[in-house]
Order: sequence, then structure tokens, then C-alpha cells
Amino acid sequence: MRDQYSIIFIFLIIALGGCSLAALKSKKAIGSTVSLFMASVTPPIIGNLIIVRSGTELPASIGYYIYFLGMDLMIWSMLKFVVEYCNYKWKKGKLRAVLEIFLTADILQYGFDLFFDQAFSTEPIKVDGFNYYRLVPHIGQAYHRAVVYGILVVILIMLLVKTIRSSKVYSERYSVIFGTLVFAALWQTFYIFSRTPVDRSMIGFGIFGLLIFYFSLYYRPMRLLDRMLANIASEMPEALFFFDSNNKCIWGNKPAQELTGLTDETIDKANEVLDAKFGDCTGKPDNWFSGFTLGTDDDAQYYVIENHYVTDDQGKTAGSFLSIRDNTDEQRKLKRELYNATHDRLTGLYTKEYMFQRISEMLHSSPDVKRYILSLNIRNFKIVNDIFSPEFGDKVLIYLSERIRANLTDNSIFGRLGGDVFGACVPVDEFDLDEFEKRLSTFKVADMAVEYNILIHVGAYEITDKDTDVAVMFDRAHLAIQTIKDDYHKHLALYDDNMRQKVLWDQHITAQLSAALADGQIRPYLQAIADTNGKIIGAEALARWIHPTEGFLSPAKFIPVFEKNGMIVEVDRYMWRSACEILARWQKDGIDLFISVNISPKDFYFMDVSAEIQELVKQYGVEPARLRIEITETVMMTDIENKMRILDELRKAGFIVEMDDFGSGYSSLNMLKDMPVDVLKIDMKFLSRTEDVLRAQTIVRNIINLSDDLGISALTEGVETEDQYHVLSDMGCRMFQGYYFSKPIPVSEFESLYQSGIKSL
Ligand code: C2E
Ligand code: CA
Ligand code: CA
Repeated sequence: MRDQYSIIFIFLIIALGGCSLAALKSKKAIGSTVSLFMASVTPPIIGNLIIVRSGTELPASIGYYIYFLGMDLMIWSMLKFVVEYCNYKWKKGKLRAVLEIFLTADILQYGFDLFFDQAFSTEPIKVDGFNYYRLVPHIGQAYHRAVVYGILVVILIMLLVKTIRSSKVYSERYSVIFGTLVFAALWQTFYIFSRTPVDRSMIGFGIFGLLIFYFSLYYRPMRLLDRMLANIASEMPEALFFFDSNNKCIWGNKPAQELTGLTDETIDKANEVLDAKFGDCTGKPDNWFSGFTLGTDDDAQYYVIENHYVTDDQGKTAGSFLSIRDNTDEQRKLKRELYNATHDRLTGLYTKEYMFQRISEMLHSSPDVKRYILSLNIRNFKIVNDIFSPEFGDKVLIYLSERIRANLTDNSIFGRLGGDVFGACVPVDEFDLDEFEKRLSTFKVADMAVEYNILIHVGAYEITDKDTDVAVMFDRAHLAIQTIKDDYHKHLALYDDNMRQKVLWDQHITAQLSAALADGQIRPYLQAIADTNGKIIGAEALARWIHPTEGFLSPAKFIPVFEKNGMIVEVDRYMWRSACEILARWQKDGIDLFISVNISPKDFYFMDVSAEIQELVKQYGVEPARLRIEITETVMMTDIENKMRILDELRKAGFIVEMDDFGSGYSSLNMLKDMPVDVLKIDMKFLSRTEDVLRAQTIVRNIINLSDDLGISALTEGVETEDQYHVLSDMGCRMFQGYYFSKPIPVSEFESLYQSGIKSL
């Protein structure tokens, strides 16, 4: 008996010691607490081992001390462990402090026992013929038991509460620990009351310690994991199919069963059903995925299908699972967003950017088809908006977009470039420019009772190089529109290479203007103006550009370009200054002549004409009457009052104002009486257009008579023959300019011409 218990105790001591070391090395947070507890179970067992082995009183007493003090240590570390294991928090540590005070008192009383024997004594008995010292408890021992059982009860309550509160799978481990502890405690109680010599319940505590070692460090509730995963899988919104290593379907979650119409019993047919419904999608490699569309257009359903392998501990494929997710909503949302980003809100046509992209894609996918780029522009759309309403304007835009849609074939791409500008790319073979122009010319929009003619201009560009930027192609189509101007019968213009050349030319010379002015490449030529005697009385300054590479450039080559882009202001300022320089020199040399300078309508936009000219003559000390100012009728077409004021101002300052190119445009004789001008320049070339010479002469005579009546002098320019000169002279004209007298010539030549006194008639 004695030996058997000894062996069991030694075995437990070694096992617990080993576990204690193992627990210490564990990386788990609870490891050190478990280790301490394991270690603390050994002293009571060691104590009992000593008791069992002693044949004399002293060692037996030592054994009892080790036993009881060991019990205190064990119960304390058990408490610490259980609190940690069950995740309890000491509330302010009050209970713990109380329990520890009781324990400390117990340890102290065993100290007193050495002198007072108040805890226990021993009595010798014979067991199986051996001397054995049995415990005789005193009052102190009762205290010890009360403390130990008290704490044990606290621990059991903690475990019990945890067992009840935890979910079933978790409560398993708590209940086993709880059960073992109850068992060990009852066993010990039995020992106390039966007064058997050996405390066999130590075996119970030893086993309890080993169980704790296992449950706290190694036990993983596999059933829990399985259950959790199964729950997750069945509650996933996507359909999940699980296959074994033979690619046989073994389970499908609820969405999977709904998707295939299969049940738990028939799920093994999943492969056939899935392959038929979603293309060949089963038995795919690991991490394979694919998108699948079921149905077409608006009713289409979209799915994302993924296959994943499941491997076992050795890394061998144990099976696979296929997930099928319905992402129709996302796809629809995406499509909607894409639509909004690529389509104009008002008309539903493509936006500019998207149309450019589509055109460029089409040009590259079928490069051999000849195509036009069209730019459609509503003429005076602002007026439509102003006269009617922005709502009506919107209606016009929608209407026009429908018109465009109806007139273009399926192989065309069209969209809204912005505002009132639309664009299209159409195959040349499927598009008749003339027919299209005709159809658009009858475009009317009705608002209630009012019917409004909408004028649409179309510029067409035939694509020659598909690699040209689409934006540039539209620029060209747009450029063609600008050539339509105000012709009410023309609605469509085709871009040609001349336009391109012209644009290039414009850019070419515009870039060089500033340098040309600074270098003196642009300079004034003078054309003589004569009186009835043929005597030179003045000159008109006309710009010439002696270009280093292009050679001699007549104003027709550059003046209109700068007039369009506003840079004419630079040219004119330069010309006026040059005229003043010449006049100042002539004044000094006693040459009594005037110079007329040209003023472009644009000058009035970009500068204070009156102030600049007055400042110039002041600077050069030139008499204002010697600098004549030529304006054209077009100047007076806009902002009349302001222009009148400026011209009045100039005349008051002593300048002579001339109306250039009279008869070329819109002004009527009637208007003339209100014009603040001193001289009327009548250009022969406008009259020589008329075949009927007599008629032309009548007109000129009338103009001259009328201007006489109004106190305005008449000047005819473009006089090329002696005959013309005589006729005009007879009609009462007093001033003449034209090749008959002189072409525009460099200043020095003009001065020589003047000195030699040409044409004394
Ligand atoms: P313009 O002001 O009407 O100038 C008269 C034009 O008629 C000049 O052409 C001149 O060379 C031409 N001409 C003169 N006599 C005859 C003739 O007997 N027969 C024919 N067939 N033509 C004659 P040019 O110099 O080529 O100037 C063309 C236009 O360029 C000018 O018309 C004027 O509007 C503009 N221009 C010239 N220089 C300037 C300038 O410095 N500033 C501005 N703003 N415009 C200028
Ligand atoms: Ca002129
Ligand atoms: Ca003229």
C-alpha cells in the first residue's frame, strides 16, 4: 500500500513538474499562471509522500507542515488561475485581499503551531505493520480547513457561473474542470472525516492539475470551429458549393441550393447543373475566378465565380469550394454611373470626351472607311434663349439632337460638344452632304403658336489621317463653319487644305509680328494724293512687310489676319508713329504735305484711339491737320454714339477725318449727313464692278454733289487712267489717288517724286 501510493505520488510530482516547465515555455498569456499552479500542486503531494514514507514522528510532522502550507499555496494559485482562465476581473481586488489575509493568517498559525500545537498533533498507529503518524486536528486545523474550503467554494462558484453562462461548446471545458474539482474536494472531505491514514484525494488534485494543463494550453474546441464555419458558410449571401477531392459536391449552402434548385439529397448533381448554367465552371484550378452574365441587356444578371482549394495539414488538396456571387446590383450601378459620365444629361447624347474616345476607337478598328467629322452649330443660339426662354432653348437642343440621330446611320457616332455645338463622325459613303444640308435648312421649332426657324451651320472635315487628334479634327470642321459667315443660303462648308494652309500661315506670321515690327521689316509706303492740277498735296501711308524669307508681302497677306486676331493694333500704332516721324521731318524741311493713316475697327476695341493719336502728334510736334485719319463704314456699324463722340473729339482737336471705301458696304447716302467726317473717299473699284459705265458715272456724280451740299470734300481713289481723272475732275471731284499718279512707294522714293514735281497738267 505504502509503496503503491509512493509510486503514484512520485509519478504525479514528476508529471506536474514537467507540465509546469512546459507551461512556462508556452507562448500563451496564461502560461505562467498555469505553470505556477502546476508547481503549487506538488508541495501537498510531496508532503503526503513524506508522511507515507516516515516511520518516526519528526519527519511525519514536517510532511504535514509541507502538506498544509502547500495546500495554502495551491488554493491561492488555483484561485489566481481560475480568475484568469474564466476571464473574471477583480473588482477593486477587495475579495482577493480578504482571501489573502485569511491565507496569510493560516500560514502564520502554522508557525505558532511549532510552539503551541494549536493546529494539529500526530498520533502513531500501525498500518499493515508499519509505523504511521496520523493527523490529530486541533482548533487551528479547523481554521485551515475553513479557509481552504471557503476559497474552494468561491472557485467552484466562479466555475459554475462560467459553465452556465458559456455557450454549450465552450462550457464543456469549464464543466470538466468544475466536475474534477468537486470530485477532488469530496474525496478530500471523505479523507478528513474517515480519518484514513493517507490523503488519497491528492491523486484527485494531481489529476485536476493535469486536466487544467491540457484544457488551458492545448485544448481547442474543434467542434466549435466546425460549427462556426458551418454557420458562417450557410449564412453567407453567396452560393457556396463544397467538393471533395474527387470533385464531387458534398454540400451546398442555402443560396447554393436556391440557385441550383437542388437539395441536401440531390446536391451531388451540382457539377452538371452548374456547368450548364454558368458555362464550364466546376473542377477549375485553385484561385480561378471569372465573371458570368446571364441573360441580356436590362434583365441581365451578373455573377462572380471563384474556385478555391482546401488543403489538409500536409498541404495535400482535400477538396475545393466554389463561390458564386450575384453582383447584378453593383454592375447595374456601375453601368448607370458610366452612362451618366459618358452621356449628356439634357440630350442623352455622348459627352464630348466620350465621343472623342469612341471616334478614335472606331478610326483604329476600321481604318479603311472614309469618314467625315461634322461640327454642327446653332446660329445665334443666344438669341433663341433670350427671345424665348432657356427652357425653350433646351427644347431646341433636344429637338436638334433627335434630328441628328434620325439623320445618321448606325455606323455613325455623334454627341454634344457643349452648349449649342454638336459633333458627329459619319462614313462618307453613308452620308450625303447636300441632302443633309437641305434637311437642316428646314429646321423649325414650335413654341405654342410661334414657329421659329433655327439656322444651323455645319462644318465638315474629311479625315485624311486617322492618327490626328480627334480634337484637332473637330477644330478643322469648326474652321469650315467660320467660312460660312452670314450667308443665309449656305449651311454647310467642307474643310479643305487651303483652310489648313491659311491657318498655318496665320500662325506663322502672327508669331513673327513683334519681331518684325522691332526689326523694321514692316514699314510704311506712301501713295500720292493729288489735286485737280495733278500736284501732290499729301499721301496715304500703307503698310508693307519686307519679310526675310517670304519676300515682299502686300497688306492683303497679313492685315486681315491681324484684324481677325486683334494684333492689327500693334501694326497701326507703329504706322501712326512712323507717319508722325515723317511729318515732323517734313515740317522741319518745309515740305507742306499731309499723310492719311488707316484705323481699323478693332483699334476702337483695344485702345483709346483719340487719346493715343493726340498724344502722338504732341510728342512729335506735328500739326493735327497734317495727320488725316481714315475710318471705314464698318467702324460706324456698332456702338455708333461712342464712335461719333471719338470722331468729334478728334475733329475738334484739328484732325481731318476721312470715310474710306465709301460705297463698298452698307452705309447709305442718307446716313452721311450725321457722320462726323470731312472727306469721303470713293473707291473706283467698287464702281467699276458695274458694267454700265454711265450708271456708275451717275452714281459718282450724285455722291460728289451730295457731299458738296453737306460740306464734305470728295476724294476718288483707284484712279488708273487719264480719262478717269478728267471725267472725275469734271464732275467736281477735287482730290485723286491712284496708279495713274503713283503706286504706293518707299518714303525716300516718294520724296524724290514730290521734289521732281510730277505730272504738271
Ligand atoms: P485702302 O485703305 O483702301 O488702301 C488703298 C488700296 O488700294 C491700297 O492697297 C493701294 O495699293 C490700292 N490702290 C491705290 N491705287 C490703286 C489703283 O489705281 N488701282 C488699284 N487696283 N489699286 C490701287 P494696299 O496697299 O494693298 O492696301 C490694301 C488695304 O490694306 C488698304 O486698303 C487698307 O484697308 C489696308 N491697309 C494697308 N495698310 C494698312 C495699315 O497700316 N493699317 C490698316 N489698318 N490697314 C491697312
Ligand atoms: Ca485707306
Ligand atoms: Ca480705300
